[in-house]
Amino acid sequence: MAKPRKKLQKKSPVAARLSPAKICADEARYMLQTYRRPPIVFTHGRGARLYDSQGREYLDFLAGIAVNALGYANPRIVKVIRREAGRTMHVSNLFHNPYQAPLARKLAEWSALDRAFFANSGSEAVEGALKLARAYAHARAGNGRAPKTRFLALENSFHGRTFGALSVTYPAKYRQPFEPLVPGVEFVRFNDVADLESKFDGTVCGIIIEPIQGEGGINLVSDDFWRRARELATQHGAALIADEIQAGMGRTGRHFAYQRFDSLPDIVTVAKPLGSGLPLGAFLASNEFASVISPGMHGSTFGGGPLVCAAALEFLSIVEEKNLLANVRERSAELRAGLEKLAAQFDFIREIRGEGLIIGIDLSIEGGPLVKDALSRGLLINCTHEHILRLLPPFIISRRDVAEFLGKFERVLAAASKSARPSASAASGAQAPARAAALAAAR
Ligand code: PMP
Repeated sequence: MAKPRKKLQKKSPVAARLSPAKICADEARYMLQTYRRPPIVFTHGRGARLYDSQGREYLDFLAGIAVNALGYANPRIVKVIRREAGRTMHVSNLFHNPYQAPLARKLAEWSALDRAFFANSGSEAVEGALKLARAYAHARAGNGRAPKTRFLALENSFHGRTFGALSVTYPAKYRQPFEPLVPGVEFVRFNDVADLESKFDGTVCGIIIEPIQGEGGINLVSDDFWRRARELATQHGAALIADEIQAGMGRTGRHFAYQRFDSLPDIVTVAKPLGSGLPLGAFLASNEFASVISPGMHGSTFGGGPLVCAAALEFLSIVEEKNLLANVRERSAELRAGLEKLAAQFDFIREIRGEGLIIGIDLSIEGGPLVKDALSRGLLINCTHEHILRLLPPFIISRRDVAEFLGKFERVLAAASKSARPSASAASGAQAPARAAALAAAR
């Protein structure tokens, strides 16, 4: 591996005591093998830069998969967390804390929905959203009539790993090892209005849509599809749920990705960047849907604790005060222009997709080796569906960061053009079918 440029960044006191080889060996021995990780141990970061235990610097265009919207060690976030850690890290939801209400109020302003419930992760927010759709259907069914119970979701969706969230997640590789899942879920072909119409009937209690699919490969839901989903949900008294966990909270240059459409969802899920790196998820709902919940029906021990809610409030204030949505849009325009130039230069780039700072680079070759090469050059990116490179940089990146990224990325592409292998899934036009088929065959 070529060594990335070394910057004069002092090793952290923790890093000085770490042996990456020992850490990797202990992980291999003592942890469930759920992740495939490079042999690097990240110890600290600042802004959009991350540093490993050897003091090497990386420009982070992945941001913890859309979590670290303010980059690392934002002084205002650090200050709030220190302050709250010295007060109460946890107060039971049997009691009020100072930060839930102002955070819920701010989220209502950002989303144009009415009420929030706080959870601890994206999956948990999705669970809550699905439960709310069911509860609404039960409440509406009334005297002796059977409630509607089915859910619709989209092909290539990703909504999480818990049973409910997994049930509305499309790829077979995530689902099959854990079946049976929650019954009554049907998947609609992406942006296929006719398929939507044929599957949406009076037995559906909710449809869940990522306005921009993240794990699915940065796919944008069309205006027509969204409009029809809105109409059908209203017609059948079902919930239109927008999963904004990856694309929401400012990443598109709007507060939420659904704000590019002309109608609102009934329920919205958020997580990733909300807690500034601390675990916090939420679902937001219109009064119409929220009104079916009464005390005791849903809850959480940790969800919405004072420490994490204070950090989230600070995050939202920083986004507003520093006008970060404008920065997202401006840096996005520079990044997109640079990437389009590279696409004209390298014919294995098929398409650049996305909005704001959620960008997919669709390749006709395997993306994994490019991610590895980028890492060796001090650049953090990621690949989804084997051939779609994904960029999710922090909202705070500068013009200089974009220029540095484009320079390094061009070298990654140039190296790939000499050695690349065509991607099987890209060539077939289908997304990641090979592994799913192999899994199915193995059963
Ligand atoms: N929904 C979407 C759109 C996501 O991108 C993710 C995480 N990648 C989730 C749900 C699940 O979130 P978590 O990992 O926090 O449970």
